[in-house]
Amino acid sequence: VALRDVNVVVPTSAGEALAAFGDGEGVTVVAGGTIVLPELVAGRLRPERALLLGRAGLDRITRAKGRVTIGAATPVSALEDGDEPLATAARHVGDLEVRAQATVGGNLCAEASADAPRGDLQAALIVLGAEVRSAGGGGERTEPVEQFLSGDVRRRLVLDVSYEDVPRHAAYAASWRPHAHHYTILAVAAARQDGELRVAATGVAPRAVRLTAVERSGDPADALTGLEPRDDAVASAWYRTRVLPKLVARALEGVA
Ligand SMILES: Cc1cc2nc3c(=O)[nH]c(=O)nc-3n(C[C@H](O)[C@H](O)[C@H](O)COP(=O)(O)OP(=O)(O)OC[C@H]3O[C@@H](n4cnc5c(N)ncnc54)[C@H](O)[C@@H]3O)c2cc1C
Repeated sequence: VALRDVNVVVPTSAGEALAAFGDGEGVTVVAGGTIVLPELVAGRLRPERALLLGRAGLDRITRAKGRVTIGAATPVSALEDGDEPLATAARHVGDLEVRAQATVGGNLCAEASADAPRGDLQAALIVLGAEVRSAGGGGERTEPVEQFLSGDVRRRLVLDVSYEDVPRHAAYAASWRPHAHHYTILAVAAARQDGELRVAATGVAPRAVRLTAVERSGDPADALTGLEPRDDAVASAWYRTRVLPKLVARALEGVA
């Protein structure tokens, strides 16, 4: 019933997916569907066209030419034993059932809603210095994750994310409510590579943010510089304001 009036397209290659997505006008991408399917079923979302990514061959992780490349439709569960801090971030997403279904591309495009902080992988990908390859109006482009997140995410089809395949010191610290199907409330990822420190947080704003003041000073007390933490159904801004510097301290200790 949910898809009765919707043109459902199931591409079997990346090329077909690109052609079907076009400039993204009127298209809703369905990857794991953990966010978007309930919206379709409840009738809150009525796209002209639904692009189902499950068979487009975008679900592989490769290591070649000094880079790790993760296809957009790769399930979050496939990252759990991989590189840090992405592996720990992945293990914190929802529960087993959600992680098996949810994808990397969906997590990157997910925006926090009033009742659910989302996008746990975004902070980890930012500190890995990851780049997103996407397509849409104006063609294909590759850009840093934080630049991608600050643009018009809804009009891009994510193809993959990649980062340098080098050793680094990394850590991840999170707070969440201990019950089944939990959402992370707040999380901080940090990584040091070639002497450069990168720190980012998820759960503070609708999408992950880079904590540049902390990167410069190395001081958790700078965690809130330029930020006003969000209020939502799982935690208040008051709580986030108090917990963020503590998670930053824990992540920095982990990196050290
Ligand atoms: C019970 C429960 C618990 C959860 N807990 C967490 C949690 O702890 N942490 C967390 O981060 N998230 C959580 N989530 C949210 C969600 O599962 C994840 O963010 C997941 O990674 C989304 O991926 P998906 O493939 O299911 O996205 P989908 O639902 O398929 O899509 C989500 C959005 O991204 C777009 N999209 C998907 N793939 C692409 C692509 N390749 N290119 C362009 N646009 C795309 C869709 O159009 C849609 O707007 C939870 C969800 C549930 C139901």
